[in-house]
Formats: sequence, structure tokens, C-alpha cells
Amino acid sequence: MPFDVKMAISALKKFNQLIEEKKEYLTDLDAAIGDADHGINMNRGMKRVIEKLGAKEYATFGALYRDVAMTIMSVVGGSAGPLYGTFLMKLGQRLSESGEVSADELADAMREGLGGVMSLGKSAVGDKTMVDTLAPAIKALKDNAGGSEKDAWDACADAAEKGMKDTIPMLARRGRSSYQGERSIGHQDPGATSAFYLISCIRDAFTER
Ligand code: ADP
Ligand code: MG
Repeated sequence: MPFDVKMAISALKKFNQLIEEKKEYLTDLDAAIGDADHGINMNRGMKRVIEKLGAKEYATFGALYRDVAMTIMSVVGGSAGPLYGTFLMKLGQRLSESGEVSADELADAMREGLGGVMSLGKSAVGDKTMVDTLAPAIKALKDNAGGSEKDAWDACADAAEKGMKDTIPMLARRGRSSYQGERSIGHQDPGATSAFYLISCIRDAFTER
């Protein structure tokens, strides 16, 4: 069973709800090592995304993710807006005219999105950012894509959760939290946390369809 545009929209709606629920928590995480705006930024952006999606019909991933990316880039301030915007823009460009994809194809497209994040952010795995969630999640999706798609998505979400938690002992090397130096150690990265929410919402949208 492929992943289709309807599931992608359902995943975005779930992501909006989860961000709404967790906005204070995300802001608390950002207060510890940043400037306490990640929850507010993401909440504002995703609300606007859902408003925009309600007014249109989408047949292709290209059209859907282009609109989502543009909205996030224009509404979400800070680093997270351009970074998530780039991730989704590249994803949409790669999937372009298609309306459904296998886990394997989606993993390839997400890898391109991640490449965009890493080149814009000059970030690598281990820098204590959203990359630490996305990279292992995409790898797990790709590695497990040969079996059942449900198992592949579960492996992807599990790897995302582990990647998020693995940011706790890391020293921040990119973004605002890097100004904290050693004091960033012992705190979970807010962007790695919201990236886990995004991946888990995609998994849920896939599983519940
Ligand atoms: P800002 O840091 O500008 O206040 P946010 O608080 O919304 O923006 O987002 C912070 C998150 O963005 C961080 O937790 C981190 O995961 C991610 N991030 C910041 N800088 C980078 C970067 N250079 N590369 C990848 N991710 C980054
Ligand atoms: Mg911040």
C-alpha cells in the first residue's frame, strides 16, 4: 500500500494538532538552550498551513509540499522556518507530479530534503539539531522498505524517537543553542523533538488510513 496525497494531508493535520498540544513543551525545551520560541514558531506556521490546505484540493505531492513549504518559510520565524521549508520544498520537487509513492521512494525524497537542510544549516549528524532525528529515521525507512510498509514506518518512527533522545548528551554545534557551549549538554534539542513529531504523524497517518 503506497503513501498518497490524502495521507500526506492527514499527516500534516495530525502534526498541527500535536504541535498545538506540545507547544509549551517545545518552548520549554527551547528556553533551556535557545530563545523559547520554537513551540510558538511551529504552532503559528502549522496553523496557517492547515488554513491554506482547507481552501484547496491537491492531486500531487509537488503542489502540496510547495504550498506547505512556502507557507512555513513565510510564517515561521527563526531557523526552523527556512529549514523545515527547505526540507518540504525539496521533498515536493523530487516527488513532483506523483500522487502516491512507496516507502522506498519516499525515503529517497526525504533524503533529498535532508540534504537541503544540511546544506542550508551547514549541519551534520551529531550537531544536536533536527538532523539527528531525520537522518536515522530516513535511514531506517530506507533499510526496512523491502518488507511490509507498516514495519518500515514503525522502524522509521522508532529511529526518529531514538535520534531525538540521542541529542540529550550532545554538545550543540549549530544554531542558537551552540552559543550555550557546554551548557547545552543534558538538554533535548527542540527541533529534533518537533522533527520526531512530524515523523510520528506520518507513521500514524499511514497506519490509520
Ligand atoms: P531559532 O533557533 O532561530 O530560535 P527555532 O527555535 O524555531 O529557531 O528552532 C530551533 C531548532 O532549529 C533547533 O532546535 C535545531 O533543531 C534547528 N536548527 C537550528 N539551527 C540549525 C542548523 N544550522 N542546522 C539544522 N538545524 C538547525
Ligand atoms: Mg528558538
